[in-house]
Order: sequence, then structure tokens, then C-alpha cells
Amino acid sequence: MGAEQRRVLVIGAGISGLSAAQVLREAGCVVQVIDKGRGPGGRVSTRRVVNGEALTSADAEWSFDHGAQYFTARDAAFQSAVESWHTSGVIAPWRGRLASFDSEGREPVDDTTIRWVGVPAMNRVARHLAQGLDVTCSRVVSSLHADAVTGRWTATLRDLTSTDVTDTSNGPWDAVIVTIPPPQALALLPATASMTSAVAAVPMEPCWSVLVAFPEHVKAAFDGAFVTSSPLGWVARNSSKPGRGHHDTWVLHASPEWSAAHVDDHADAVGPFLLNAFGDLLRVPMPRPSHLSAHRWRYARAAAPLHVRALTDAGLRLAVAGDWCAGNRVEGAWLSGREAATAITALL
Ligand SMILES: Cc1cc2nc3c(=O)[nH]c(=O)nc-3n(C[C@H](O)[C@H](O)[C@H](O)COP(=O)(O)OP(=O)(O)OC[C@H]3O[C@@H](n4cnc5c(N)ncnc54)[C@H](O)[C@@H]3O)c2cc1C
Repeated sequence: MGAEQRRVLVIGAGISGLSAAQVLREAGCVVQVIDKGRGPGGRVSTRRVVNGEALTSADAEWSFDHGAQYFTARDAAFQSAVESWHTSGVIAPWRGRLASFDSEGREPVDDTTIRWVGVPAMNRVARHLAQGLDVTCSRVVSSLHADAVTGRWTATLRDLTSTDVTDTSNGPWDAVIVTIPPPQALALLPATASMTSAVAAVPMEPCWSVLVAFPEHVKAAFDGAFVTSSPLGWVARNSSKPGRGHHDTWVLHASPEWSAAHVDDHADAVGPFLLNAFGDLLRVPMPRPSHLSAHRWRYARAAAPLHVRALTDAGLRLAVAGDWCAGNRVEGAWLSGREAATAITALL
């Protein structure tokens, strides 16, 4: 296949989709990334809030990293990318004081791990990766079809910004990389794809994330804590991360068990409940929050990731990627996307 003919569709503009698209672009492919979200990033995401209303504008009063909290880098290729992001001012190390809480009480976490965060917010990482790529947001891919004769792919897109339910056809594409969580991927993969049963075998766990702003500084001897003896699993003073402004903002994540048991609860009930759990943890009176909301991540993390970097069906020129392939973290997502793109470029 000639270079001018290599057209690849990437579904999902999370870290894995964006890293895949970068590799494809470097290989000379025409690539389009489609995401149903309002911007790129997926679970590396930032919620901005002004006077109680979530906004996307830059003049927000509070911002919360309500998905990924930070990331680490162990793989040499990822370390090298991380260094370049650091040099460009896209990320900085978070030097927050960490602790762990269990039924015995609180212990400081004293390690040498570098924990990176986007500056001034986590979604900066995705925006940086998306630069120079053709990324179309607010479009959901509702189906995928491979032509029986040519093998070329066509996607059906629904515009989420339009009140009309009109589907449009997008393509044809020589290959497709699907980088969305397994239950959503399964709905798009053809039943004949070789990876279908592997994808079906990866259950995803939910996570409730609570966003709290306080009018005064909450007394806590830590900036982030791993919690095992509470409905909470993780709490962090969001405003202790570099560039987050001076308001005291916190992100509280429920434990996987609590989140699964309460996945269908209403956000209005979840916020106050987990805020109380936070007060119990700190054993200090909680000031009345100036903002309190809750976000449900229905597909937060894989219960058992596959530990393969990506899955490819050479005959269909189709690959799937995501953190659930390579280990539930930003680093795994980045590596997975690159692997899928490398496999696809080798096929084209
Ligand atoms: C609460 C929480 C805390 C976390 N904390 C950390 C942490 O501290 N450190 C760490 O390293 N990792 C953390 N993670 C994990 C990290 O966020 C993920 O590993 C990583 O962001 C996954 O990237 P991805 O590209 O594989 O998937 P995603 O980010 O989920 O991207 C998939 C994209 O596909 C889009 N999509 C889905 N279906 C369709 C469709 N049909 N059509 C179009 N678009 C579609 C979605 O909108 C989304 O943008 C956390 C995750 C959560 C939820």
C-alpha cells in the first residue's frame, strides 16, 4: 500500500488514542482522532467550576483534576517523552506530602517516586499531545463497518452538539485503532475480530470522584493520602499541585468497593456522604464547602488488565489499545497506543 493511501481512524482521544495518532502521523499516515468528549484527554481530565456551574472556559474560579491524579514514568521511552513535556513546561513534579491511612491510623509515605502533573491542570498533557493532530470532539462513533470486498472501514458518527439525531458516515479508512474502554469497544468491534473474547474478559470498575472547594484552608498534615479503612480510597489537596491557584480545593475518590456498591447512586447524595467520610478521616470539623459536586467514572480502571500492550487483528487491519491492555495507568495507556500504531503501520 502506498504511503499516500494510508488513512487511519483512531477512536478515542485519551492518552492512548493521542499517542497512537502521534506515531501514525510520524509514519506519514493521514489520521483522524474522534472523541465523544468536549475535549481530548479522556480520564486525564480537569473540571472547571465558576459559581457552582461547571464551565470549560479558562477564567474558571476553581479547577479540579477529577480523573488521573498524577503519573509516574518507569519505561525508558515514556521517561524520554516525560522529560520533553517537562522541558516544554507542560508538566511539573508534584511535591505534595503523602500519607497512608488504614485502621491503625495515619503514616507518612516517604519515597523517592517522582509524581508528575500537568500544569496548570492535568488536561494540559492531552492538549499538548493533541497539537498538530486532526482531533474531532463531541462526536460519538456509534458503529464501525469493514467493506467485505476492499476491507476498508467506515464509521458512523453522531454529533453530540446537535439536537437533531443525524448520523453521518466517516471514511473510508485503511485501518482503525479503537482506544476506548472494553465495554464501549465491544459495541464497535465486529464479532469476527480476533480480539473480541479478550476484550470481553476485561471488566472495568467504577470510581466516584468528589470535587470540593473550601473558603478557608482545611487543616491536614498531608496533601495526598492513600486510604484503606474508609469509603474513600484516595484524597488530595488539588491546590497543592503546581499552578492551581490559591483556593483550597480537594478531590476525594471513593474506594473501588464503595464505588461499585453505589455506582447508580445520585451525585447529589454521593458528594455529601464522601465529604463526611473525609471529615471522619481528618477528625476535624469540616468548614462548609463553597463548592461540592460528584462525578461518576463508570469505567475508571480494569479489575484485571491484560498485560499485553495492544491487540491486533492483521486481517482486518484493526487494533485495540488502552490502559486496560497495559496496566491501568497513564504510562500504560501511552505505551499501548504507541504499540497499536506501530503494529498498524507495519501492516499498511
Ligand atoms: C478516578 C481515576 C483516577 C486515576 N488516577 C490515576 C493516577 O493517579 N495515575 C495514573 O497513571 N493513572 C490514573 N488513572 C488512570 C488513567 O486516567 C488512565 O490509565 C488513562 O487516562 C487511560 O487512557 P486511555 O486513553 O486508555 O482511555 P481514556 O482516557 O478512557 O480515553 C478513551 C476516550 O474514548 C472516548 N470514547 C469512548 N467511547 C467512544 C465512542 N464510542 N466514540 C468516540 N469516543 C469514545 C472517551 O470519551 C475517552 O476520551 C485514573 C483514572 C481514574 C478514572
